[in-house]
Amino acid sequence: MTFDDFNFSDSLLEALSMMGFEKPTPIQEQAIPMIMEQDDLIACAQTGTGKTAAFLLPILNKISQKSDAERNATNTLVIAPTRELALQIDQQVEGFGYFLGVSSLPVYGGGDSSSWDQQKKALTTGADIIIATPGRLISHMNLGYVKLDQLEHLILDEADRMLDMGFYEDIMLIVSKLPAKRQNLLFSATMPPKIRQLAKSILQNPKQINIAISKPAAGVLQGAYLAYDEQKIPLIEFLLSGKKNYPSVIIFASTKRMVHEITRMLQRKGFKAEEISSDLEQEAREKALLNFKSRSTQILVATDILARGIDIKEISLVINYDVPGDAEDYVHRVGRTARADATGVALTFISDKDQHRFQTIEELIEQEVTKIPTPPELGPSPTYDPKKRRRGGGGGRGRRRPGGGNRNRNRSGGRGKNHRGGGGGNRNSKGRK
Ligand code: AMP
Repeated sequence: MTFDDFNFSDSLLEALSMMGFEKPTPIQEQAIPMIMEQDDLIACAQTGTGKTAAFLLPILNKISQKSDAERNATNTLVIAPTRELALQIDQQVEGFGYFLGVSSLPVYGGGDSSSWDQQKKALTTGADIIIATPGRLISHMNLGYVKLDQLEHLILDEADRMLDMGFYEDIMLIVSKLPAKRQNLLFSATMPPKIRQLAKSILQNPKQINIAISKPAAGVLQGAYLAYDEQKIPLIEFLLSGKKNYPSVIIFASTKRMVHEITRMLQRKGFKAEEISSDLEQEAREKALLNFKSRSTQILVATDILARGIDIKEISLVINYDVPGDAEDYVHRVGRTARADATGVALTFISDKDQHRFQTIEELIEQEVTKIPTPPELGPSPTYDPKKRRRGGGGGRGRRRPGGGNRNRNRSGGRGKNHRGGGGGNRNSKGRK
């Protein structure tokens, strides 16, 4: 199949060729005809599958064929969980929009008062496509100038993530203000029952697509080290000073506090490391991402905010400083490396108390991850016995919660505040995620 098969306008075909998109990805092959048929759609697809273009291309094609008179109001609203994702979607719209004359506006929290004023101005005059995080959009909507009465398409991107972050009510509030007649597209990396429920309340007779990958790509070389917490920084030093050169390394940790501590420790050891977490101001987050993408920083230390959604190419090494609380987060974290056809390495540090959790991950990915012996100069390391935690009934970070697969649980392992805003954050603080 080629993009010519979709009956796209010449200018969109030209834009695709300029952007280097040669042929549609599987999700694009399936989703684009359905979206062009005006069907509602529920799609299970992860970042990296080309899902953003899958929903943007047919919509851009439609908008670009409208007359100026028909283009005086916002046509499409994309709701995304984080500002990074909103920005990334906006950048894709901008890339195509340049050729098609379609305008877009990202609306997300953080930033200074001038970014608020800019958003307000653009929301008042209307952009063809608005890409918003829920909290910030509601703050603007409450002031009365957001006009969505001509809206034709609503897209919920990373819907599972939004529910994890406690955005259900915000989404429903936004949806209640939209015209009843519209096309709804819901994209989610996973399809737990609560997503089906959300889909039921928003979508009408949706078509379904499933492009889920619940296993790391074949190109990822996975390994794990058993290490006590105090051995982890020396282990990173050992790995990065070895023969193999890792120009771009992401280190994931479950809490913002850990992210900060790891970054400081690595900087003190002379590494070019920067952190990214929701504690940072918008500008600092963007700068850290930019430095990492341009390779002026070797190591980016991050919470799971970066594991999903964000498209960074050519990560040579992913290190899980701790075992993620949710098995699917492991797949997302590891998926940062070996994107497209590249190969990459993903190493997980398993402390004594995280062993059982790691076993749950191995069950999900249906694969035993090689346990690599910790270098002897780091001293004795824990022995691998994942069953001992289960027998002991848990306690502390490794505690199992009833219901096992509940993605809403506190993944920061009970230490500090859950960075997903799961508990008691006000609307604005959620918007600043
Ligand atoms: P996404 O899954 O939407 O985050 O997209 C992942 C990456 O794939 C982005 O950098 C897109 O620009 C790129 N991409 C999407 N569709 C195509 C395509 N058909 N051909 C080449 N690259 C694509």
